Amino acid sequence: MATSSHNPSRVLHSGPAGAAELSNQLSIAVTEMTSWMAEYGGFTPHPSLDIEVDALERAGEQLRSRLRDNYPFFHPRYVGQMLKPPHPAAVIGYLTAMLVNPNNHALDGGPATARMEKEVVGQLAAMFGFGEHLGHLTSSGTIANLEALFVARQNHPGKVIAYSADAHYTHSRMCHVLGIDGMAVPTAADGAMDPQALEELLRTGVVGTVVATAGTTGLGAVDPVHHIVALCRRYGARVHVDAAYGGFFSLIADDSPDGVAAAPFAAIADCDSVVIDPHKHGLQPYGCGAVLFKDPAVASHYLHDSPYTYFTSDELHLGEISLECSRAGAAAAALWLTLRLLPLTPDGLGAALRPGRRAALAWAEHIKASEQLTLYQQPQLDILTYYPTHRRLSEVDQASAGVLSRGMRRPPAQSLFVATYTVDANALAVRGHQLVADVAQGRILRSVLMKPETEQHVTSLHQQVLDLLSDGQE
Ligand SMILES: *Cc1c(COP(=O)(O)O)cnc(C)c1O
Repeated sequence: MATSSHNPSRVLHSGPAGAAELSNQLSIAVTEMTSWMAEYGGFTPHPSLDIEVDALERAGEQLRSRLRDNYPFFHPRYVGQMLKPPHPAAVIGYLTAMLVNPNNHALDGGPATARMEKEVVGQLAAMFGFGEHLGHLTSSGTIANLEALFVARQNHPGKVIAYSADAHYTHSRMCHVLGIDGMAVPTAADGAMDPQALEELLRTGVVGTVVATAGTTGLGAVDPVHHIVALCRRYGARVHVDAAYGGFFSLIADDSPDGVAAAPFAAIADCDSVVIDPHKHGLQPYGCGAVLFKDPAVASHYLHDSPYTYFTSDELHLGEISLECSRAGAAAAALWLTLRLLPLTPDGLGAALRPGRRAALAWAEHIKASEQLTLYQQPQLDILTYYPTHRRLSEVDQASAGVLSRGMRRPPAQSLFVATYTVDANALAVRGHQLVADVAQGRILRSVLMKPETEQHVTSLHQQVLDLLSDGQE
């Protein structure tokens, strides 16, 4: 019998391999939280809430059966959209806190998780090089951006908000909601905001805030934040960075062969606000965005008071600095627990980002060496865009759509899940693709390589795309 000193340390793996340990840890969480509850004394549960275990098991079976109607976001052969399951640490953090169900609107709603939220927000701020800051978690990147644009409007009433033509649609929509004029700045051939075009717009004096995107949703293009900040300072505009997708790449923004460009990420420290989505690259379940402001004085824009909240302390209540009211304290607990174990360092969470970056670079090389596929543009993060080599855009469109649909229709163990991305003749031409634009727009292939496991599968993923292409030619 092995003694405990000979046991290798136990590991909680992510994915299906960690299932047994995950259920062990969840069971510990339920037991321990119940024993905290017991300190308050027992009471009789109300029969109206009782459910038959048999009925639960039947309904649960239906639930599980209906949930099979999903795509395998967890699997290395899912290289489609920005989707992956949370880390088991986040699941444990979320479910443990959810048993209490604190509301991070106010300290009255959940003092422990409100403090955890302040801690994780401080960690995110430090990652971006924000010293002093004001910030909080939100239910999504969209709401986080709404808050940043709201503060932009309050700071520069009547002025325009400029974002790149490739920015997330949320910006034009939220400008509409806020009654502000939004303007799209053209992108250059790499999909990032063209600083020259921005300067022309800034010169007119109409712009109050520029939104720089650090990692566009479509292409993973990183706007030149460092140039944008310099221009905005010259023309008196504020800078907000939408790093909803790309923010965590700050951890590997070191110009190294498997890192990403340092300068745009370092410049976030000089910006007025930044948004990041822990529910994208931060290993969290949905319901976790964050907005951070450099100047804590923006809190004045949120001022409100209500007779039914804020009793317990003079400490800051998060609801005083957020547009949303109720928010899951469990989301803060999940992020807090995750960052205790995988901290915001190059060796912590950074080590989970590098493999996806390497995968994108390696797959790009396979594509460049292949006759059947063409790289649309060099990946700047971990999002790859490519297309089946053809003369006409209509053929590219059909072939791309075929790879997508044939890949998903294969039996599970041979399936491949990619995404498509729509391009037009101009976008192809500026990148030097000599295609006959016989249709105005067409789909190319897009793959988000956000799981570190992908790196081990790049060669076979590439081969599978080729197989799916030749299947289509039979
Ligand atoms: C995902 C994303 C958003 C929107 O965030 P949600 O969390 O989906 O609401 C905004 N901007 C960028 C760059 C994104 O990638």
